[in-house]
Amino acid sequence: MRTPLIAGNWKMNGDLALVDEFARGLQAAELPQGIQVALAVPFPYLSAARASMPVSVALAGQTLNPASEGAFTGEVAGQMLKDVGAAMVLVGHSERRSLYAEDDAAVLARVEAALAAGLTPVLCVGETLEEREAGDTERVVLGQLEAVFSALSADARTRLVVAYEPVWAIGTGRTASPQQAQEVHAAIRARLAEWSASLAESMQLLYGGSMKAANAAELLAQPDIDGGLVGGASLQIDEFLAICQSA
Ligand code: PGA
Repeated sequence: MRTPLIAGNWKMNGDLALVDEFARGLQAAELPQGIQVALAVPFPYLSAARASMPVSVALAGQTLNPASEGAFTGEVAGQMLKDVGAAMVLVGHSERRSLYAEDDAAVLARVEAALAAGLTPVLCVGETLEEREAGDTERVVLGQLEAVFSALSADARTRLVVAYEPVWAIGTGRTASPQQAQEVHAAIRARLAEWSASLAESMQLLYGGSMKAANAAELLAQPDIDGGLVGGASLQIDEFLAICQSA
């Protein structure tokens, strides 16, 4: 039995007032028993979020530098995220891959740095519309998965969360159908099973891409979808809580 995980990704949005509003909303909410909730807020808000949000809500960074320290102006190390209360970090989000040229090697280096810092990496994988239309979805998604998992020890593999985020569904309002998402999730789980059956059984696989209160329940009802990575809809407390309620 895998624990459902709903993770919000604010991207470069929000402010201290929104942190406050979420802290109050999450304190007051009666979330379903046995689900995990996480929020990836911008770096400058992590401390304030940690101080005000319920301890049961995990905080996440949105990226990290692969180095542990040094002359990398503007960058943030895993240990720093940990210091200010993050327990998780997104790695390989499609915006990082496309806007900041993070290739598979860069993604792997960040996953390793996150693990070294004791953070749970949420590895994001997903195909573009072009790749889907060319029938390349599985090749692309499993390739991104393999680039990381093949390089990790059996023990390290168990410490990740994987998020399938079709690039064409991110921020577009165009969600993958529950069947489309389930199909890719099943393929990811089958690939994980080639490394280890227990790894495949225990791995939390999140879906991301225009998930909102109105479509969360049917996505989360799919057998291989264990949670959501929620962008736009994680900026409104009512919407976010409603998604948590459907987990
Ligand atoms: P979206 O973003 O929910 O706004 O589509 C998801 C994500 O990028 O993680």
